[in-house]
This record gives sequence, structure tokens and C-alpha cells, in this order.
Amino acid sequence: MSKLNIILFGPPGAGKGTQSEKLTSHYALKHLSTGDILRAERQAGTELGRQANAYIEKGELVPDAVVIGMVEQMVRAHAAAPGFIFDGFPRTVAQGEALDAMLKSLDMDITTVLSLEVDEDELTRRLLERGMTSGRVDDQDEATIRNRFKVYNNETSPLKEFYKAQGKLQSIHGMGSIDEIFGSLCEAIDNSQSETY
Ligand code: UDP
Ligand code: MG
Repeated sequence: MSKLNIILFGPPGAGKGTQSEKLTSHYALKHLSTGDILRAERQAGTELGRQANAYIEKGELVPDAVVIGMVEQMVRAHAAAPGFIFDGFPRTVAQGEALDAMLKSLDMDITTVLSLEVDEDELTRRLLERGMTSGRVDDQDEATIRNRFKVYNNETSPLKEFYKAQGKLQSIHGMGSIDEIFGSLCEAIDNSQSETY
């Protein structure tokens, strides 16, 4: 199990997408963003995209079975990659359990879970700013943003305990410059790789 499989964890606007791009090139990993996949499906007007759109517009979660199926397809298709960065997935404990089982069946596991910690005022500011240029419908409306935080706090944040219990959770201070935060993430990744199990 020498692959490097990272979960980049954190609330909406924490910087998962930005840092994933940098980590992907630094460690030659496969970036797997379920949000990006869902938006691409929506853009392409597929049936999956149409179904996902209703959830995305409200800031609700696309059902577990749908995203788990998507991830499974991607992981199997790229099983030869040196590792994955999971960005925005898992979002529920059920998804975390499914991911563990899926990786285990391929003789892989999660190396480390990096949780970007950013306060809600800063998150709201970043999302509204992104909404002005990204065209993302879910970044343009404060009520939708508030609902995404609520969903994150209720459904996603319990995963911290899930991974803490596995000894895999590392909290990273997510406020500061992009390069500073990237440096902290790299340090945490390098530490997790040098640990002997
Ligand atoms: N989404 C989801 N499951 C996922 C990824 C995305 O339900 O695994 C939906 C959900 O409605 C979410 C939206 O897509 O609010 C945007 O997700 P993304 O991860 O891009 O947003 P972020 O939290 O990174 O800002
Ligand atoms: Mg994102």
C-alpha cells in the first residue's frame, strides 16, 4: 500500500480546489473533485447533471449512491495512478465508509486526511467573491451559502471524528497566503508518509 491517497477536507470555500491543483502537480496525483465532475455533467446536459442540478442549486447534497458510484468509476479507471486527491468527497460518514471499502477492495487505503480550518466569515467572503466571476449559481446567493454551511456542519463534519478515530486526521490552519497553506499541507503529507505503521 505505497500509494499516496489524500482527502482534502473542509467547508465550502476552504480552498480545497485551489490547493488540490497545486498538490496534484507537486505529487503527480490524480485529482478527483466530485463537485467538478457534477458541474461538468450539468454543463454537458446529461441525465446525471440534470438530477444533480436540483441539489446544487439549493446547496443540498447529491444522494450518497450517486456520488459513490461516480467515485468508484473514477477510482477504477485510474487505479494505476500514484495516488488520488479526493476533493469534496466524502461528504457523509456513509460515503467515508464506502470509500474505505472501495479502496480496500483494490488493496489501497487513505494515507492522510487534511482538514483546512477557516472561519465562517472568511468563507462567506471568499464564496461571494468567487460567485462574482465563477458563474457558479451556488456561490451567488447568501441563503444558499448558509445552507451549504449548515449541511457541512450537520452531515460532513462528523467525518472528522471518523478519521480521527482512524488516526488519520490532520488539521491545517487554512487562513493566510495560498503558498503558506500549501507549505503546511506539504509538510503534513511528508510527515504522514514517513510514519511507519
Ligand atoms: N456536491 C455534492 N456531492 C459532492 C460534491 C458536490 O452533493 O460530492 C454538490 C453539493 O450540492 C455542493 C455542490 O455540489 O453544494 C458544490 O460542491 P463543491 O465541492 O464544488 O463546492 P465547495 O464545497 O468546494 O465549494
Ligand atoms: Mg471545491
